[in-house]
Amino acid sequence: MKRLLERLLFICLLLSFYNVEAQISVNADQSVTNLMIDNKYSKASAFEYFLNNSHNSNLEYSISNWLDDKRAAVVLTFDDWSPGHPAIVIPELKKRKINATFFITNVLGTPDWNIVKNACDDGNEIANHTKSHLDLTKLSGDQKKNEIKDSKNNFGEKLKGGKILTFAYPFGRYDQVVIDSVRNSGHIAARGVQLSSGNYTYNFAPTEDDYYRILTYGMNSTITIAQFNSQIENIIKGGGLLTYLYHSIYNNTVIDNSYAQIHQNDLAMQLDTLLSRKNDVWICTFAQAIQYHREKKTAILTEVSKPFAGGNIWKVNLSDELNDNLYFQALTVKVKVPDKINKISSIYQNGKKLSFNISSGYLMFNAIPDGGEIIINIL
Ligand SMILES: [Zn+2]
Repeated sequence: MKRLLERLLFICLLLSFYNVEAQISVNADQSVTNLMIDNKYSKASAFEYFLNNSHNSNLEYSISNWLDDKRAAVVLTFDDWSPGHPAIVIPELKKRKINATFFITNVLGTPDWNIVKNACDDGNEIANHTKSHLDLTKLSGDQKKNEIKDSKNNFGEKLKGGKILTFAYPFGRYDQVVIDSVRNSGHIAARGVQLSSGNYTYNFAPTEDDYYRILTYGMNSTITIAQFNSQIENIIKGGGLLTYLYHSIYNNTVIDNSYAQIHQNDLAMQLDTLLSRKNDVWICTFAQAIQYHREKKTAILTEVSKPFAGGNIWKVNLSDELNDNLYFQALTVKVKVPDKINKISSIYQNGKKLSFNISSGYLMFNAIPDGGEIIINIL
């Protein structure tokens, strides 16, 4: 009976979902369209909530769309490892305790790998932008392997254990053969240079291939702070993933003029603008955002043992269907606290203490799928 009711509700949600879609297409007015997107987003959340609960779990729970229940994800990406990246960008990020993704290539000379590794150790993502920065659609099979797979392995060795997980196409040029080659060499996603305008929704990658066609917002000196900020507003409304694409960053002493120069002062203003919205957006690396989004699709929370079944503990397990060597980003879980639990003193996963909070009867914490049983200590 419960199943039947859920199914009916599900159909109602689907119907209202499509109805909203239909209204969007006939409405050209910008403000009304925004309102509709808002509407669609909240419906989509409810839709996903029911999907979660239709899994074979005996728990009432949901997994947030983004870490810490943030409304959207924003990733700063820097291409080509030009001189301003180590000299200006990395210190500016460090000052603000945020991280970015650096797409590395040898096209402007061999990078100083000590500096690259330090940036990686600080939490920045070091990612693959090929060895020689060629148009991949014009290369032979062997040349493609050399630029994509061999370059990934080579960069990984230079990082001494650091993982290369994502990719950016030189000149944004790719076709299906290139996508397959990027995926088969162990990358979890790839970014092009195509504009993201118009696609801010959470469901930005309905097919697997879509993770290898991630859109972006290209930065250059003509972009005003108002335009930069409007992208953040759009992604908060849509609930999806926004990536910014940067190239050269310069100042009075650092010469960096390979492409689309931006002065250090303008970058600093953009970073501060982004930070001012950190309650709404998860500022993370490209790999983290993609890991989270892909993990959430198959993650499921189950009860291992009931509260007080074996002492003052309650055990649950979070798992997904992905390769744990590539997917190890924590997900934010909200689970209903059973009535018999009065107080929770601590939560551990694989010996590591997790921070948590309880609100309206729901316990919220961040745990890694397949990262070990989650032990909730209760009183
Ligand atoms: Zn490039």
